[in-house]
Amino acid sequence: MQAIATQRVAAPVAAAQRAPTAGSARQPRRAMSVRSKAIAEPEAAAQQLAERDDVRNIAIIAHVDHGKTTLVDAMLAQSKVFRENEKVETRVMDSNDLERERGITILSKNTAVTYKDTKINIIDTPGHADFGGEVERVLNMVDGVLLLVDAIEGPMPQTRFVLKKALALDKKVVLVVNKIDREGARPDWVVDTTFDLFCSLGATDEQCEFPVIYASGFQGIAGAEPDDMADNLEPLFDMVINEVPKPVVDQTAPLQMLITNLDYDEFKGRIALGRVNAGTIKTAQQIKIGVPGEPARSGKVNEVFIYNNFKRTDVESVGAGDICAIAGLPDVGIGETIMADGAEPLPTIEVEEPTVRMTFNVNTSPFAGREGKFVTSRNIKERLDRELERNLALRVEPGDTADTFVVCGRGALHITILIENMRREGYEFCIGPPQVITKTDPDSGATLEPFEEAVVEVGEEYNGAVVELLSNRKGEMLDLMTNDKGTTTIKYKVPTRGLLGVRNAILTATRGTAVLNTIFDGYYPYAGDITMRDNGSLVAFETGQVTSYALFSAQERGVMFVKPGVDVYEGQVVGIHQRQGDLKVNVAKRKAATNVRSNKDATVVLNEPKLLSLDDCVEYIANDELVEVTPESVRILKNAKMDKKAQKQAAMKK
Ligand code: GDP
Repeated sequence: MQAIATQRVAAPVAAAQRAPTAGSARQPRRAMSVRSKAIAEPEAAAQQLAERDDVRNIAIIAHVDHGKTTLVDAMLAQSKVFRENEKVETRVMDSNDLERERGITILSKNTAVTYKDTKINIIDTPGHADFGGEVERVLNMVDGVLLLVDAIEGPMPQTRFVLKKALALDKKVVLVVNKIDREGARPDWVVDTTFDLFCSLGATDEQCEFPVIYASGFQGIAGAEPDDMADNLEPLFDMVINEVPKPVVDQTAPLQMLITNLDYDEFKGRIALGRVNAGTIKTAQQIKIGVPGEPARSGKVNEVFIYNNFKRTDVESVGAGDICAIAGLPDVGIGETIMADGAEPLPTIEVEEPTVRMTFNVNTSPFAGREGKFVTSRNIKERLDRELERNLALRVEPGDTADTFVVCGRGALHITILIENMRREGYEFCIGPPQVITKTDPDSGATLEPFEEAVVEVGEEYNGAVVELLSNRKGEMLDLMTNDKGTTTIKYKVPTRGLLGVRNAILTATRGTAVLNTIFDGYYPYAGDITMRDNGSLVAFETGQVTSYALFSAQERGVMFVKPGVDVYEGQVVGIHQRQGDLKVNVAKRKAATNVRSNKDATVVLNEPKLLSLDDCVEYIANDELVEVTPESVRILKNAKMDKKAQKQAAMKK
């Protein structure tokens, strides 16, 4: 039994399987099929599967602001990736504006640092449960994760979901207690709380014995104990090298590479990313592309790139165990395997089913085409098609008309992020209210709807308000725990339908202090009717500019959404009616010129209008309303088509 001993390959897998830090269970599931074959034929296995000493693949799990970007920047700087004359671009990981605003990572990004001849591929993980598909893909590429936790705040509920997935996939977790330099840092408490979190997520005893390292990304230092810090990040690098399992791969087998992400380059076209599972991928190689059970097609790899700090660098070839990108395959998709003749395709990536749908229409408001660059149904369709290429959990179906598309995603947030991105790119369109996607139970024929587990962290004084809100929405309480600092963690199982719009309601009820997290739980029988909105809307009676004079009388009817001076159109929703049912109001009325006798008009006292964000609008709208989205404005309007339909239905009833 002899290991294939190239310079880069250290130990045969037989030894690796015995070694406690590189147990077979820690390998990604899809490597297992290769392994199980190997175990059945020990001779062959020992000759082929081997550890790669020169590569580590890690993902970072961190709550926003716990210092991920700063730490990765420091790691890059210290591994001397920046040449003297190169501009040091900071904030490598966190580049999407929208992510910063919303405090979550949406797209996973790759980077790599080299430390003492070992290349560490670092992949960012999305923080929100709605991006479950993306999380799983990222975790499948790595052998370990760094769980980055603020030394004061401790682990936050937002990271629970990703950590749970990492533990379920049996990835090695290294705890990094970060910002250790902060005054009031309480590293011991953070470690204890993280331990409790592991236990509550069902971690095994072995997983609960996670290695801990203390760091300050800010100062670029790390250490094995809070009071024993080195003056650089070497202890952290060493921890990664020693604790994260080495990739165990067969570099001599025929090529297999599962495509886990796509990128686009103006000159090179589609770029496919993934981890090489077996063999080697080379420039100009003829390959097959396929998924299990279907005939494969042929293609040619034009270029192979690796990640080198935050840039892609051309290389001749990349061996199994490393992460790379390739150009030259314009039709390759996520979940497909790129392989050499004779290799089998790897199991494709399972992506969660969408739970919420929203319609995207061409803008039909009287102000259509005023503010957007891309307004036609063709523009919208092309943009959605492009999104489908890389947004795996998203689906688009044709709507009732050629101008309507039904966009299905993992929760309303998943879809509103797309809407916000499109708006910023210059698109203009109308969207309908989010609706949950129901299923039929194949046995009983009953209607099933998606449910989510909602975890709310809130000050004790607001418990009652939160419990009332969630219970009214057909939620079932699973747990209520009071923590030492007067905060409560409330856990509910709630229909996804009931959660649409609840975020705002909870924030209002708790004066903005609550943190709400939701995780898809499963499909269960329909929970019954939920009253979402009692109040009707105040609807503009005519097109024109809003005047203070008109607002002054309109505001007696409810809460206004508009300020004096803005243009409104007939049928636009300009406020919430204080009663049920809609009410037409004239907000553009001018005082008759002959009536101007005093300047009393200038002194009218107007209530502060409630200005709605995109999310607010999506949460607010009823079934017969639409949100008009343009690069400059977000308005709500009555859906004229629905009006007619409703009128027809009413007429038929008569
Ligand atoms: P991210 O959202 O996780 O990427 O976090 P950032 O790296 O953007 O950091 C968030 C904030 O924490 C910024 O204001 C940083 O300056 C600060 N910060 C980051 N690392 C440290 C650290 O090690 N110590 C202290 N005191 N502050 C830090």
